[in-house]
Amino acid sequence: MTIHHFRRHNCRLCASTALSLVFQLKPTPLANAFVPRNMLGNVQSVFPLDIFLCNNCKHLQLLDVVDPRVLYEHYVYVSGTSPVFVEHFRQYAESMLARFAPQRDVLTVDIGSNDGTLLSFFKQSGCRVLGVDPAIEIARDAVTRGIPTLVDFFSPTLAEQIVEKHGTASVVTANNVFAHLDDLASFLRGIRTLIGRHGVFAFEVAYLRDMIENGLFDMFYHEHLDYHSVGPLVPFFASHGLELIDALRIDTHGGSLRGIVQAAGGPHQVSRSVAELVEDERRIGLDKAETYTDFASDIEKIGQELRLVLKKIKSEGKSVAGYGAPAKATTLMYHFGIGPDVVDYIIDDSPWKQSLYTPGLHIPVVPSSFMTEKKPDYVLVLAWNFASSIIQKNSAFQASGGRFIVPLPRVRVV
Ligand SMILES: [Zn+2]
Repeated sequence: MTIHHFRRHNCRLCASTALSLVFQLKPTPLANAFVPRNMLGNVQSVFPLDIFLCNNCKHLQLLDVVDPRVLYEHYVYVSGTSPVFVEHFRQYAESMLARFAPQRDVLTVDIGSNDGTLLSFFKQSGCRVLGVDPAIEIARDAVTRGIPTLVDFFSPTLAEQIVEKHGTASVVTANNVFAHLDDLASFLRGIRTLIGRHGVFAFEVAYLRDMIENGLFDMFYHEHLDYHSVGPLVPFFASHGLELIDALRIDTHGGSLRGIVQAAGGPHQVSRSVAELVEDERRIGLDKAETYTDFASDIEKIGQELRLVLKKIKSEGKSVAGYGAPAKATTLMYHFGIGPDVVDYIIDDSPWKQSLYTPGLHIPVVPSSFMTEKKPDYVLVLAWNFASSIIQKNSAFQASGGRFIVPLPRVRVV
């Protein structure tokens, strides 16, 4: 299968062509392109993973864009599988309704609605709900669970169709979607139509500040075209007749940002948090290329150290398993040069991924029963942001002499 891919030449937010390459990661296949056994003979294409800073608006981004149909039509991430996310979405729905829609018989729309987890909480509160998601199988599951879902990409045309049929929405949400789109301008035209004069649009994205401060370089992968910070977003929304009225730091995905947007001059006051976060971002240098080139060299040092640790373990004839096969493990393994010669298999709790093989490197993904059956000597925690809960859950492994290797934010063997 040929995967369509192109490199754009201007900034996704301000259209400036003044862009600087600030971090060049090793090219990888698509981070979620897990492979079934019968496809192992096919070589998977790799794509550049080059990170650019816009010299005009200071937005950090990938310019290489892979055909979104390849990325999303058979997407395997299911939000309802993680209890932490279910609770996060419950609180999220509650706070949005309390603040923006105290009378509950309103329309709420979730773009990138996945299995409908967030909408199920809006629905329980009495809202009319509608999901939009291009992932065919997952959207079908949501529908059978009672969440009406349009299987489609969100667009200005789709927004018009929704408004014609259901009226404007009081609350529109899009979580971990806003960093995934090449044509953000068209997306915002759709949002303007859908929220009308009185509605709000809330989005959650990984926050660039947390990525840099916490060493989350493995959040760089092709699905994430944009690495958002508040500074570049303020003028971007303004240029589309919208207004960023609040920006909150939240702790999902190792540190995220929730932005809330209304039509310019709409009913809500702009919170002081917007200007405060912009100021903080300047203070820590998110608008400077050196911040990212320094980050790249710090990551390089960690990679060297990790390779040394693994080389020593392998030279002693010990076995290494991986733990966690999130999308970001693809970036980590490619950039650090860790392949099937080091890691025999990867344990993952998601039934969607078990029995598949990792993108490009084709390491088998297996259930957690392998920890006790195969007894690896070392477990490299690829889902390292969950290291403490993984280690806690597998205390018997440590008690029987096994050791965990946590690669980031600095290499630890425990
Ligand atoms: Zn720009």
